[in-house]
Amino acid sequence: MNDLPRPELILVRYGELALKGKNRSAFERKLVENMSAATAAIAPVRYERSRGRITAALKRPEEQADAPATLQRIARRLQEVPGLSSVSVCIGVPKDPAVISAVVNAELAERLEFERGPVTFRVSSRRADKAFELTSVELDRYVAERIPPELWDKLEAKLKGAELEIGIEVRPERAFVYLGRHAGIGGLPVGSLGRAVCLLSGGIDSPVAAYYAMKRGCRTDLLSFLSPPYIGASTRAKLIDLARSIARFQPRTRLYLAPFAEIQEAIRDLCPAPYRTILYRRFMQRIGSKVAKRNRGRALVTGESIGQVASQTLENIACIEAASALPVLRPLIGFDKTETTDVARRIGTLELSNRPEPDCCTVFMPDSPMIFGKLEDCLAAEEALDIQGLLMRSLKGIEVIEFEAGQERA
Ligand code: ATP
Ligand code: MG
Repeated sequence: MNDLPRPELILVRYGELALKGKNRSAFERKLVENMSAATAAIAPVRYERSRGRITAALKRPEEQADAPATLQRIARRLQEVPGLSSVSVCIGVPKDPAVISAVVNAELAERLEFERGPVTFRVSSRRADKAFELTSVELDRYVAERIPPELWDKLEAKLKGAELEIGIEVRPERAFVYLGRHAGIGGLPVGSLGRAVCLLSGGIDSPVAAYYAMKRGCRTDLLSFLSPPYIGASTRAKLIDLARSIARFQPRTRLYLAPFAEIQEAIRDLCPAPYRTILYRRFMQRIGSKVAKRNRGRALVTGESIGQVASQTLENIACIEAASALPVLRPLIGFDKTETTDVARRIGTLELSNRPEPDCCTVFMPDSPMIFGKLEDCLAAEEALDIQGLLMRSLKGIEVIEFEAGQERA
C-alpha cells in the first residue's frame, strides 16, 4: 500500500435505533446492496461490514486517474442512499501515533485556515486493532496534546456536541483519519419495508411524497396518467425527467404511464361536471391499486396534504380513497407548501416540477368543482360508466419505463 496520506476509505454510519437482533443483518445487507447499485456507474467499490460499521473503498485505486476525487464522488453519491446517516472520507496512514498526529495536524491546519474560531472539537479514536500500542483514550490524548499552539488558538475542546470531530480508526492493516461527518438523508434502506406505488403528477408534491416513501424503506414505483391527444409529448417528457430524478434514491424504479383520455371523456359525457376531478382521482386509485397488486405492492402514495388546494378537503380525500383497494399513504399530509417546496429544491425536483406543462387533470376542468364531495354521489355518478371496461383498456395500454439508480445527480 501507498504510504502517502490520502483519502482511501469511506466510513459509513447508519441509524441504529430500528436495528435489533436479526433485523440488523438484513438491514445491513440491504443497505450494502443499495449502496453498490448507487455507485456502480462511478467505479468498482468494495463494501465491508464489520462491527456495526460499513466501509467502502475503491477495488482498484491504481486504475483510477484520480482515486481521491473518485472516492469523494462516491461519498457524495452515498449521502443520497436512504438508510445511511453519515459518511466520513478517511485518509489512510501507517499505524504509528507520531504519523497519525502529524496527519491530523496537517488536515486541521487546512480546515482551520479561514476560521477565526474558536471551533469546538473532540478527538475520537476507535481501535479495532487491540495490539496497537495505545488504547483509544490514550490515542485521543496523544493526538490532542500534539496539536500545535497556533491551531489551539482556533480550537476549543468539547466532549459533547463538538462542531468538529477528529476521528481516528485504527484497523489491523492501517489507520484512518477523518475530520467531520457528512450527513446522509437517514431513513431506512429501500426495499426493507416492501413496495408501494406513488401516483406521480407533474406537480411539486408527488415527487416529494415518493421520496419520503423511499426514505422510509419502501421500494416505490411511479404511476402517471397521460391523456393523449389532449395532453402531449412534452408532459410525457417532463414526467420521465421527474421519474429519473427521484429514481436515484433506490436501485430500480418503474414508471408506469397509463392512458387516461378515454376515462376522462366518459366522465365528461356521462357524469355531473362538478364531480369530474374527484371521479378522475377515483379511477387513478383503482388503476394504482391494480398496478401495485400485480407487483406485491402494499400501499399507494400520493402528494396530498390537507386543504392545500380546494379539492383536498377531508370530504374529497375520503371520496377518493374509497376507490383504493390498498392503504393510501400521504407523507405530506401536514406539510405547508413552503416546506414541500424546500424539500423539492433539496432533492432536485423543484425545477423540473416548475416546468409549465399541462396536467391531465386540467382536461375538461369544470367551472365550479365540488369541494365537499359525497361518496354516495360519486357512486351514483359512476353508475353511468362501464368501470371495468374503462379500467381494463387503460391497464392494457400502460407503458413501462425502467430506471437504474446508477446515475449521479445532473
Ligand atoms: P402535486 O403537486 O403532486 O400535483 P397537488 O398539490 O397538485 O399535488 P392534486 O392535484 O390535488 O394536488 O393531486 C393530489 C395527488 O393526486 C397528487 O399529489 C398525485 O399523487 C395524484 N395525482 C394528481 N394528478 C395526477 C396525475 N395526472 N398523475 C398521477 N397522479 C396524480
Ligand atoms: Mg397537481
